[in-house]
Amino acid sequence: MTEAGVRVKVAFLVTRDGKGGIGIGDCIVITFDDKDDASRRKCIVIDGGYSKTAKVLKSYLDGENITTIDLVVATHVDDDHINGLKAFFADYVDENEPIKVLNYWGPEPKRPDAITISEFIAFLPDVNDLEVKELSFISQSVDSNEELWESAKKTVGEAHMWHPSFEGRDSLPTLFSGIKIDILGPDKQVPSLELKSAGAATRALEKALLSDAQIDLRDAGLKNMILKAANEIDRTANNQSIVFRLTPRDAAGGEIPSFSFLFAGDAEVESWTTMIERDKGSLKAEHLKVSHHGSATGTHEEVLTAVKPQYGIICAGENKHGLPDGGVFKLLQEKGVKIICTGRNPKEKIIPCAKPKYQAKCPRWDKVKCREIKDPVVFEFDTDLLLAALSSPQLFCENDWQS
Ligand SMILES: [Zn+2]
Ligand SMILES: [Zn+2]
Repeated sequence: MTEAGVRVKVAFLVTRDGKGGIGIGDCIVITFDDKDDASRRKCIVIDGGYSKTAKVLKSYLDGENITTIDLVVATHVDDDHINGLKAFFADYVDENEPIKVLNYWGPEPKRPDAITISEFIAFLPDVNDLEVKELSFISQSVDSNEELWESAKKTVGEAHMWHPSFEGRDSLPTLFSGIKIDILGPDKQVPSLELKSAGAATRALEKALLSDAQIDLRDAGLKNMILKAANEIDRTANNQSIVFRLTPRDAAGGEIPSFSFLFAGDAEVESWTTMIERDKGSLKAEHLKVSHHGSATGTHEEVLTAVKPQYGIICAGENKHGLPDGGVFKLLQEKGVKIICTGRNPKEKIIPCAKPKYQAKCPRWDKVKCREIKDPVVFEFDTDLLLAALSSPQLFCENDWQS
């Protein structure tokens, strides 16, 4: 008797910026056969880029004949990850619309005991012995996350929504038999309302301290509240990224590490340090979705030593942040990682992809039509054949960024 293997396809879509051009952001679609349920291909969507990416996502799903998404993962509250999901839910997921979403993982939107901004700011005139340097600052699109959570609730239903963390990983239901999912980060979920409150309160506090306002810390409850907020924003929204490893299983249920993927969201050094110190081995993966669009704070040597990826996929595009970072490119190449970007950043000076001599060796540049390739970066795999089929014969960057 021959049992069917598992076909897995991982597509990194080319996301759009606010104007519809190729921009930064993540949007990843994973489709696979689940051996316990042959009725249809299963589908996971990780993030949705900026809002204009919703259309790109819908047309990709149409092309794959996918009308049911088994799991939507919103890694963290930033616009370039969740605004597209928000637009996708608004435009395509509804009882009258063709797309169904069965389960949702995303940042926790709120908690009843969250500190409110006004509560916090009301205390400010009485605070003085907190050092500014203890506080870090965030300004994140938590409102979008609240809206996304609410619209998902209408269609997915709260009983099928979770905010995964390493701490709470055992309470997550196992959704699939054809693949294994290991939750690696964040350590714990910080409700976004708290992130927002703490961020706003901290900014206000800093302003007060800088303006030499007379602030006096007398209230123990107040001090606790500030320290709690300071602790919670110690990790920025990026470090709250849901990070997980996906490993396909063969027909007998055995794991196939040679086709594992580590989806790192926008995890930064603090999140990586926690994950590495906890269990280096749990990070090992053949394919790494390079964290935070290839930023210098998203990848450092220890990350690559722990993950040991063969392939690095960078979700990038035109952006003013200078991403991907030239140092990260070099580091990946030093470690022998094959690199592919979803989009190119012509504005970048360190990685000058726009120059003709680099275009020639860029797999994302159509040399005949002289334009950027907008098809997704696709990895396909069949657990029976143990074969990986790549979407293009020269998929990886052939430029030498060492020189
Ligand atoms: Zn982010
Ligand atoms: Zn991002």
